[in-house]
Amino acid sequence: MSIIEIPADSLFGRDNLPYGIFTVSAEADSARRVGVRVADKVLDLAVLLGDDVFSAATLNPFMAQGRAAWDSARSRIQDAIAADVADAAIFELADVALHLPVDVADYVDFYASENHATNLGRLFRPDSAALMPNWKHLPVGYHGRAGTVIVSGVDIVRPCGQRKAPQDDAPTYGPSRRLDIEAEMGFIVGTPSKQGTSIAPDEFADHVFGAVIVNDWSARDIQAWEYVPLGPFLGKSFATSISPWVVPLAALEAARVATPTQDPTPLPYLQGTEDWGLDIALEVEWNGDVVSRPPYASMYWSPAQMLAHTTVNGASSRTGDLFASGTISGPEKAERGAFIELTWGGAEPVEVAGEQRTFLEDGDTIAISATAPGVNGQRIGFGEVRAAILPAVN
Ligand code: MN
Repeated sequence: MSIIEIPADSLFGRDNLPYGIFTVSAEADSARRVGVRVADKVLDLAVLLGDDVFSAATLNPFMAQGRAAWDSARSRIQDAIAADVADAAIFELADVALHLPVDVADYVDFYASENHATNLGRLFRPDSAALMPNWKHLPVGYHGRAGTVIVSGVDIVRPCGQRKAPQDDAPTYGPSRRLDIEAEMGFIVGTPSKQGTSIAPDEFADHVFGAVIVNDWSARDIQAWEYVPLGPFLGKSFATSISPWVVPLAALEAARVATPTQDPTPLPYLQGTEDWGLDIALEVEWNGDVVSRPPYASMYWSPAQMLAHTTVNGASSRTGDLFASGTISGPEKAERGAFIELTWGGAEPVEVAGEQRTFLEDGDTIAISATAPGVNGQRIGFGEVRAAILPAVN
C-alpha cells in the first residue's frame, strides 16, 4: 500500500481526475483498461474500485452508465486516493502507453469563435461580408470523419489531394502545401438521446461526460478548392487528433463562465439558464516555441448550445459522439488558433525556432496544451495533444 503524493502545484490533483485508456509499456500482452491520472501516476480503476466496467478497452461502457455513475465513481476515487492505495493499482505515467480513450461514434466540428470565423471569412471570401448571415443565429458546423480521430502521439502523414490557387487555370494533384492546425476543445457524449428527441441546453451536463483538446488538422489548399457548396471534406478528414485524458465535466465547475453577449438573442431552443462558456487557456507549441495562446472563454457559442443545435432536428446522439468547438481564436494576433490566421494566409510569417514559417513542414511537431481553474483555487490540466508531420506517401 502507498500514499499517492500530490505536489501542491500539480495540474492533476484530486479535483481534476481525468480518465484515459492505458497499457503497461513493459508488458507485451498488456490489456487496454481504464486509468485515472493523479499527479504523475496512473491508477488502474478496475483494481482501485473493483468495477468490471473499468476493464474495458474504451471509456464507452463507463460513459454509457450516465451521470449518477460518473459522480459516484469520482467521489469513490477521491475517497480512495485520500487513503493508502494498493500498489497493484499504481503505475508511473512514464511506464504506460496511452490510447484513444473513446470509441468515437459520430464526429461534428463547429465554427464557434467569432474572431476565427471573421478572420477566415476575410481570407477565404475577401469580397463579401466576413460573417455569413446565419452565423449569429446558429452554431455553424459540419459532420467530420469519426474513423480518423486519433490519439496524441500518432503522427500525421501529409495529405495529398486537389489543389487550385485562384490564379491557377486548373487544379493539380499532390501533397498539400498549406497544411495547418486548428486548436480546439472537444466534448464527448456519454448519455445518448433517442432519435426524434432533442437535448435542451440545460440538459448538457446530463449527457456530456467530459472534454479533450482537439487538433483539427486542415489542408487549406485542398479545403479552399473543395468546400463550395457543401463544406469541408478531404481537407479535414485525413486526421483529427485528441488528447488522451478526458477531463470530466465535474472538474470544470470553476471554469464555467458566461459566453460573450449574444446579439441578436438566439432562438428559444438555444437559450438555457446555465452558463457553459468555459475559461480554458490553451497554448500552441510549434517545434518547441509557443506561438499562440487561444482563450476558450472568448467563444461565442457554448458547447451546450452546440449539442442543443445538433439534436434540435431529432437527430439522436450516441455514447462516444465527439463534437469539437471549432478553432479557438481570441481578439489578439497571438491568440489565433490556426496558422492561416496567425500568418494571415501565409503573408505574415512567424518566427519558429529561429526560422520564418507559414504552414507546416515535414518533420514539424505541434503540441497543444490546456489548463483551467480548478474548484479549490489551483489549476487543472488537460495534458496535451501532440503529433509530428510525416512526408506524403502518394
Ligand atoms: Mn475545425
